[in-house]
Amino acid sequence: MRTLIAFSAALAAICTSSSAQVADPGEVSARHDSAPPEITEFMPSPAILVFSKTLGWRHNEGIAGADRFFAEVTSDNGMGIFTTANGAVFNPEQLKRFEVIVFNNMTGDALTPEQEEAFQKWLENGGAWIGLHSAGDNSHADWSWYDDKVIGPEFVGHPAGPQFQEARLVNLATAHPIMRGIPAEWMHTDEWYSFDGTEALGDAVPLLGLDEDSYSPQNLLYGDREDLRMGGGPAGHPIAWTRCIGKGRTFYSGLGHNHTSYDDPIYRKLLLNALQWVRTRDDANEGCQRG
Ligand SMILES: [Zn+2]
Repeated sequence: MRTLIAFSAALAAICTSSSAQVADPGEVSARHDSAPPEITEFMPSPAILVFSKTLGWRHNEGIAGADRFFAEVTSDNGMGIFTTANGAVFNPEQLKRFEVIVFNNMTGDALTPEQEEAFQKWLENGGAWIGLHSAGDNSHADWSWYDDKVIGPEFVGHPAGPQFQEARLVNLATAHPIMRGIPAEWMHTDEWYSFDGTEALGDAVPLLGLDEDSYSPQNLLYGDREDLRMGGGPAGHPIAWTRCIGKGRTFYSGLGHNHTSYDDPIYRKLLLNALQWVRTRDDANEGCQRG
């Protein structure tokens, strides 16, 4: 019994998605939001919407770190910012006011089908999106377009022995605008996601890979998958990528379980570059294709 209690406590400390949290597709529940938030008319433009509703795991540390980061960035650049966990902000009228949307560790079935559709239209019509850490944790199976077309690879687990490890990150796209000024490789401590492969990346552009020889990709605590190696060297374990969808641009990063990621000057530079790139529109669509 003592073992069972210890195991349960350990399990509760691990952040992972749960299929039990996925509602039936199309279902609207009391956990969804129906009353849009009030957004002051004085919010500067352009503006960033930072969204952190969590109906799955809630990363309080990572959410706080990203909230602070984007508050600093918008302040430094004279941009507006609206930070909320109210999913009802995803309506066509309010989304028009935002140039960028950040899914700050959004988990679970956070949006109604109508809200999901508002986001999809906003993105395809030229929106700029950034997804952080558990925005790609496979807890969004109710929203297949997002899971398949925006994220792609399916999260399968993260190490739990230990959960946080220093690992070597490798720059996979040195010529990409987001990777300019980013070292060829650097060490970073985080909770490292593994995915079910690279095939589902499709036409996404992988930017960062993980050297699986630099940490222990073992899951010793939960689920049925112990070996989290993806194989194939750093290119076989992408951990950040971009994708162009319609007229929109997206950037996903698996980093950032903890607020401390946002103290890493290299990661801050990467996010600033990503923010600039997702906002850029050029005829050549530089950075939308691999190579
Ligand atoms: Zn996490």
